[in-house]
Amino acid sequence: MTAWPVDQPSPLWMALSRERFEAPELRGDIEADVVVIGGGISGLATALELARRGRKVVLLEAVKIGYGASGRANGQVISALTRHGPAAIRTLWPGERGERFIALVQGAADTLFTLVETYGIDCDARRNGWLQPAHSKGRARRVAGLAEQWAAAGAPAAALSAREMEARLGAGGYHGGWEHRGGGHINPYAFTLGLARAAVQEGVSIFEESPALRVERDGDTWLIETPQDRIRAPKLALATAAHTGNLWPSLRRSIVPVTSYQAATEPLGELAERILPGDEAASDTRMDLRYFRKDRDGRLVSGAALAVQLGAATRLPALVARRLREMFPALPHKPMAFFWRGRIAMTVDRLPHLHRREDGLCAWIGCNGRGLALACAMGPVLADAIDGVPDDQLAVRPTEPPPVPLHAITSRIARLILPWYRFKDSREI
Ligand SMILES: Cc1cc2nc3c(=O)[nH]c(=O)nc-3n(C[C@H](O)[C@H](O)[C@H](O)COP(=O)(O)OP(=O)(O)OC[C@H]3O[C@@H](n4cnc5c(N)ncnc54)[C@H](O)[C@@H]3O)c2cc1C
Repeated sequence: MTAWPVDQPSPLWMALSRERFEAPELRGDIEADVVVIGGGISGLATALELARRGRKVVLLEAVKIGYGASGRANGQVISALTRHGPAAIRTLWPGERGERFIALVQGAADTLFTLVETYGIDCDARRNGWLQPAHSKGRARRVAGLAEQWAAAGAPAAALSAREMEARLGAGGYHGGWEHRGGGHINPYAFTLGLARAAVQEGVSIFEESPALRVERDGDTWLIETPQDRIRAPKLALATAAHTGNLWPSLRRSIVPVTSYQAATEPLGELAERILPGDEAASDTRMDLRYFRKDRDGRLVSGAALAVQLGAATRLPALVARRLREMFPALPHKPMAFFWRGRIAMTVDRLPHLHRREDGLCAWIGCNGRGLALACAMGPVLADAIDGVPDDQLAVRPTEPPPVPLHAITSRIARLILPWYRFKDSREI
């Protein structure tokens, strides 16, 4: 099994993964058509697509494949954004631009599950749907409207009554909500390793423990320096998400990296059959989101954020256990069996952004916590950007990285907004 840095609790998904992947460190100076930096789903989906188009692609991962958010996620496959539905997207970008983007989001889960099938990725993929329970009556009305919009855009989406939601969750307390039957869940770490295997199968050269330390333009090419060696390539794609450092400082300043914690129970035996009996994934409408899904052995896997990080390893599992027991009182009074954390790239407008510079440097960033399916769909878009597809034909229009106001301060204190979110959630009717 791939080694995980000792300072990081490893995600449950590593222990469950039957997919294996190992790649060497970069040794020797090499040349490529494109270098992709970042061995998460975004980088791998981009590299895979470029290799399928006949490009010579090298992918560099600083640590190990799946080390970033891709290996640590909750694993929910969601074909919808956190804030914007089709109507909001059309208001932002009327006409062809908005329609292309809606189609991209709508098809994102299809893209992910097609990759699973095409490359036989062994990641416990379940496509039984994704549920969004509404925590207030107002939210139930709003998400019923959202379901209607997505259904009109071609998605298998429908509103659910409070009683229907109760039956689907195996828990009461919600006011209804909606379902997207195209969604589901995966072991995200196994999926990421399988995607790396697929990328190599298509001809991508992957190097692990090979951080890009410096990139600079040298005539017509990029020179990418790793601790040992160098690569030359005319095109360079950054897929470094919340781990973005200073390779492109304005890209780093365009996001706020937020820590999200995960926790999982022991296998629940017969009780697991009464929780999410249809084996969907669920994330509710709260701003301080509550979400959960089962793994293949009947563990309940959930997570949360914390305003104060101190003592997270004990406080967070206790918080998650309490919230889960509020919903499922039959859960045993046992400590959570697994705990880990990851970092999410948030943008101010909660939209994914595509960036392209004239010197051949491209990037996409801003999963906003719903990036597993989106990253699969954005891979080909980033590949299009690299390949010189004109701006108006790209599914996401490239922009300059928009700076987060007071970035240094905002990045440090962003999580302090959590108590305000909790207050607002509790006041909604
Ligand atoms: C705890 C958690 C739960 C989540 N749950 C869900 C969920 O249920 N559903 C969902 O849709 N989304 C979820 N997300 C979001 C989802 O995981 C991400 O959107 C997605 O994995 C992003 O993939 P990525 O490839 O863009 O980034 P990452 O997977 O973070 O990959 C970036 C990679 O770049 C590498 N890197 C950085 N700098 C360099 C460098 N200089 N040189 C070489 N390599 C470098 C890093 O090591 C890292 O491996 C969750 C995220 C977290 C953290």
